Amino acid sequence: MTVPSAAECNLPMTNNEVNVDNALDRYLTITAIPGRSGDEAAVAAKIVEFLREAGVTDSQIEFDGAETRTRLDGNCGNLIVSLPGNGNGARTLLSAHMDTVPICIGSQPVVEGDEVHSSAPTGLGADDRAGCGAILTAIVERLKQGDENFPPAVVSFLVQEEIGLEGARNLDIAKVGQVDRAFNFDGGTVEKLTIGAIGGERMTIKVTGIPAHAGVAPQEGASAIVMASRAIADLHARGWLGKVQQGDQAGTSNVGVFQGGEATNVITPEVNLRAEARSHSAEMRTRIVSEIRQAFERAAAEVTNHEGAAGSVEFSSNVDYESFALAQDHPSIAAASDAVRVVGREPFPEISDGGLDANWLFRLGIEAVTLGCGQRNIHTADERLVIADYLDACKIATWLITEGAGNEG
Ligand SMILES: [Zn+2]
Repeated sequence: MTVPSAAECNLPMTNNEVNVDNALDRYLTITAIPGRSGDEAAVAAKIVEFLREAGVTDSQIEFDGAETRTRLDGNCGNLIVSLPGNGNGARTLLSAHMDTVPICIGSQPVVEGDEVHSSAPTGLGADDRAGCGAILTAIVERLKQGDENFPPAVVSFLVQEEIGLEGARNLDIAKVGQVDRAFNFDGGTVEKLTIGAIGGERMTIKVTGIPAHAGVAPQEGASAIVMASRAIADLHARGWLGKVQQGDQAGTSNVGVFQGGEATNVITPEVNLRAEARSHSAEMRTRIVSEIRQAFERAAAEVTNHEGAAGSVEFSSNVDYESFALAQDHPSIAAASDAVRVVGREPFPEISDGGLDANWLFRLGIEAVTLGCGQRNIHTADERLVIADYLDACKIATWLITEGAGNEG
């Protein structure tokens, strides 16, 4: 692999300088390791190897067993690294997720010009190995300067982000401890500070009708397909599907899966559907879910056979993640803004329309700003990493747990 030297990358020399060759090498090494959600053990093992090389002792490294609490049985829990520092001042958390989406399996990262891409027909996996690389680099740089010279910090390398934020959701908060400022490194541009995110809920709906022979005695049946279709048409007509705007409340919803039926000559006895609802307001999200539920229940009651017998609905919903928003004057936002300015960029805040590990961290009392690391076209075979952006993310992470860590609490 070709690795550009510091001089070639044309980096300004600052106090929070990082070793460019090593930072990029760390990234390329961990990105080549397959590690879809639930299969992060090999990635974690390599991260631990880098940590030990940097002088982190075994007593500072811990796994939290989250893989036994997640919906999917994984082979690895969240990896938590404590940096006790001098024991004084604000305690900082850095986090990133170790898993990648399946399209990244087999990634062969290569440097080409000022970007990294996969030479295999796969995604690269910069989401989120670039976050892992940036944080690893920050730990290495901090230990080089002496851990005892800085306020305490803690790092969480999280699992199972891509399948519904399961690692963050099941993080053992007792092992992380209390933190004052938190920074989650994930996909996107370096300047973007994600300070809040939408909440999401998923529904499964089973509609049960009454079967009958469609040619011989259709009047004896009540079709589950008709019931579900009526419900969906009703929701669509009243503005509760797609982009939902009711008064000053907004959200989105979608019926994404509709399965059922086996034969044309049977009045369909059952269909199964899956739907979702999102909103920045938990109240609005709950209202959308309730409208969807009522529409299905109404439709099932209204579609009857010749004797007046109706259908029924089994409805369940599960909150994937609650929305959150940090206060404008939150110390995590102030520090993240300073860090981005230190590398010569202008930060801008954003509220995300997708869920982040930060949604669950917030529920656990960790109020994190999410920063990007220069990933482009994530979750596609054209995924790329902009090297200059990644190196800036390395510097930002380093600054946050060294110079920018502050010494007063
Ligand atoms: Zn990600």
